Amino acid sequence: MSDEDFESWIEPMKPRPAPDGALEITVPNRLCASWIEENFLDDISTAWTEASGQRNTLRLVCDEQPAQGSLFADEPVKASQKVRKPPARRPGGFLDRYDFDNFVVGPSNQFAHAAARAVAGQPGALYNPFFIFGGVGLGKTHLANAIGNAIVDSDPNARVLFLSTDSFTNQLIDAIARNRVQEFKNRVRRMDVLVVDDIQFLAGRERTQEEFFHVFNALYDSGKQIVLTSDKFPNEIQGVEERLCNRFGWGLVADIQSPDAETRVAILRRKAQAEHISVPDEVMSYVAAQIDSNVRDLEGALTRLSAYASLNRCELTLDLARKLLTTSGGNSPQEVGLKDIATGVSRHFGLRPGELSARRRTKKVAEARQVAMFIMRNHAGASFPSIGEFLGGRDHSTVVHACRVVEKKRGDDPRFRDMVDTVTRMIGCG
Ligand code: ADP
Ligand code: MG
Repeated sequence: MSDEDFESWIEPMKPRPAPDGALEITVPNRLCASWIEENFLDDISTAWTEASGQRNTLRLVCDEQPAQGSLFADEPVKASQKVRKPPARRPGGFLDRYDFDNFVVGPSNQFAHAAARAVAGQPGALYNPFFIFGGVGLGKTHLANAIGNAIVDSDPNARVLFLSTDSFTNQLIDAIARNRVQEFKNRVRRMDVLVVDDIQFLAGRERTQEEFFHVFNALYDSGKQIVLTSDKFPNEIQGVEERLCNRFGWGLVADIQSPDAETRVAILRRKAQAEHISVPDEVMSYVAAQIDSNVRDLEGALTRLSAYASLNRCELTLDLARKLLTTSGGNSPQEVGLKDIATGVSRHFGLRPGELSARRRTKKVAEARQVAMFIMRNHAGASFPSIGEFLGGRDHSTVVHACRVVEKKRGDDPRFRDMVDTVTRMIGCG
């Protein structure tokens, strides 16, 4: 890791031995913990395992003492509280942290939001299917979950199911292997509301498309609500059968655009409020001005700043924000976008568009994907979670692993290093 990262994040940590022999790292608050968890915990854990010869004996815990000053008005988190826990899901697979109340409405998403609320109020009756489309990190998954949550809130008996396209595919593959396709389809068809997230990932999966087509028709014919999200407009999803794409457009298609400056500030305010952190207005405005690409990165920047301030016990000032947001490695994400990197890497490896994000795992695709992740991390300064999300909704730990693999190969194999450097230069990041 860079000296700078080390000084910013690792040095201020307070490790201590726990009574059960584990190593505990104390951090000031939850936000800080989640930042470290997403960005550094795997590295720390590997280092600790290597150094100590013990496995699974590392814990990240929140400090009982609130950080200095009034920065954290938060109720202190109990030291025993484990940080690593999966996000809470409600029955049906909906993430309960995503609801209408914490979705900030602005001109960029007003239409999609209003339509989503209408769908939640009268599932199956108004817009079927309801198709939300928009770029990465703009709130599609959030809105789709909010619909499901609102429906269950008003009718606890409603049968609702949230599936990512990948889990739909995986469950189908599983069912095929166990000769239980019909059972799987029946289960999905019994739903009152089916949400399928990131439907663009159906591309190239013919069997899944076939089965989804039947599920879609069954639900549609019996007036059950279908909600789909995608980063492409129905007719522009390549590699998906026309009869499916057509159906996607039968109901209402609502798009979400990038938020304008006021909405970005409002989103930051809401986030700060939810996390119980106080952030000066000028810092919010600065962050909102710097990060105009998507909401996930916007939130990520705020998390990073406040995690830094709390860990280093300093005030979150405009100067600090300037320093931290401009040193996130090389070019800023806006200069060379993740899309450009994906395109450049695909071209170099001779892949078709979309292959990088798809599930397929030939050796070539896997290598290209790792290289793309590495360049996105090191030359576009993108966060691990946002890279994972961008490349097909992969887990951040996959990205962490990929970057480590590429880093190591670059050291071991000069030809590999030349290749990566050439691709990087070609994309314009080098
Ligand atoms: P997508 O599915 O379009 O890639 P997500 O729904 O996962 O994006 O949103 C990324 C992050 O941004 C989530 O944490 C989500 O809560 C947040 N977010 C997006 N739009 C809004 C909004 N309008 N108000 C509040 N949070 C938002
Ligand atoms: Mg999403």
